[in-house]
Amino acid sequence: MHPEFEPVIGLEIHAVLETRSKMFCDCRLVASTHEQPNVAVCPVCSGMPGTLPVVNHAAVEYALRVALALECEIATTSIFARKSYFYPDLPKGYQISQYEQPLARNGRLKIDTSQGEQTIRIRRVHLEEDTGKLTHLNEDGETYSLVDLNRSGLPLLEIVSQPDMHSAKAVRAYAFGLRSILRYLGVNSGNLEKGFFRIEPNVSIRPVGSRTLGTRTEIKNLNSFRALERGVTYEIERQTELLLQGKDVVQETVGWDEAEQATVSQRSKEDADDYRYFPEPDLPPLVIEQDWVDEIRASLPELPHAKFKRFQAEYDLNAYDAGVLVADEAVADYFEAVVAADAPPKLAANWISGELFGLMRQQDVGIEQLNLPAEDLAGLIKLVDAEHINQNTAKEVLEEMLTSGESAAAIVKARGLQQISDPEQIAHWVQGVLLGNPNQVAEYLGGKQALSGWLFGQVMQAAEGKANPRLLRAELDRQLEELSEGR
Ligand SMILES: [Zn+2]
Repeated sequence: MHPEFEPVIGLEIHAVLETRSKMFCDCRLVASTHEQPNVAVCPVCSGMPGTLPVVNHAAVEYALRVALALECEIATTSIFARKSYFYPDLPKGYQISQYEQPLARNGRLKIDTSQGEQTIRIRRVHLEEDTGKLTHLNEDGETYSLVDLNRSGLPLLEIVSQPDMHSAKAVRAYAFGLRSILRYLGVNSGNLEKGFFRIEPNVSIRPVGSRTLGTRTEIKNLNSFRALERGVTYEIERQTELLLQGKDVVQETVGWDEAEQATVSQRSKEDADDYRYFPEPDLPPLVIEQDWVDEIRASLPELPHAKFKRFQAEYDLNAYDAGVLVADEAVADYFEAVVAADAPPKLAANWISGELFGLMRQQDVGIEQLNLPAEDLAGLIKLVDAEHINQNTAKEVLEEMLTSGESAAAIVKARGLQQISDPEQIAHWVQGVLLGNPNQVAEYLGGKQALSGWLFGQVMQAAEGKANPRLLRAELDRQLEELSEGR
């Protein structure tokens, strides 16, 4: 980042509320990438004349959960409006959205970055319906577009932050934190690729110390958190470069091009006036009873940030470990179950974020599908902690646990994998290796320190991997020291 300029970034996030049906009709929710086009469509969501929308009660409840989790003020009365524009993915010619009177305002979300904790203010949270999806094709020189209305009318929650972020890292932390909250609340799967969680940052640059905002651009087409971070970084650099050359930034929408790793201009930004917003005459004002709000508030789970703080305090974990564990509620629950079964918390965190995350990535499954009950992992960790088996053996045992479903203790016993801590036995192995490799020992004693690791490996091999590594290390050092003194 150029020292004279400061990026100012706000985020609009669109999350599909994953209720059973669409926002204003009974059509079921389908992910457009996983179904045939136009299989979940009816007269309402295809915009037939004479049809009337009916608000999906569950979508309002989901929206309230999010608004309360973000500590927003809830509007007792909010209004749906028509946002008019002409585009083939919008069969009615307008989108029903909340505009002047949104469901909720003035919330906040705490994020943790390397610079510490920061509070990002939420400007508003409102309900709307999704549009259809266009696929542009080019065959034999003919270009045409296909319209899929499966997505038309999906319940969408738009969450708009204040421009409180000043780096790509902060943007990522905010988007990641928000997605985590939506998943905890069970309202959204957080799937960026499916388009169920869409992140649109707006980025501007201003001289450090200035209070006025620069001209902003909005970035679309960010399909992963990596793309988000790169897209924002690219846009910051592009705008800074323009300003340094004395040029102006144009207010526009840009799209992230994954292949080019660059943003490309899509269209200049319409003013809000162009949409001719007016209250939706077919829907009454949305009235929220205070009792309902209280009931939902009382039912909220412990949220990621609170859990993050508690994990550090209660289990003495560092911020990194706590952050990794709380990002996914199922993982956090699993961790607590492993600790409840008497595994030391730090070891449990390491095993989960190391071996188990590796397996989850490999098999592309969640922790609950790993076929490894928390008590079983705790059993394995306790064997390591008590030095009955070493780390490497434990990894082998874990593999067998996953395939056979046997407990760690049973596998260790059956295969004779128990770690050997007998000092005499270890001394014997060390001695054997030192006598058997006189040249390497001489080189080591002559100053080639790196050979100590090689000798360690030889002894471990002689012990068939079962020696207690801590005792082995100490014994090897002791015998080498003795030889060194005897020279
Ligand atoms: Zn429908």
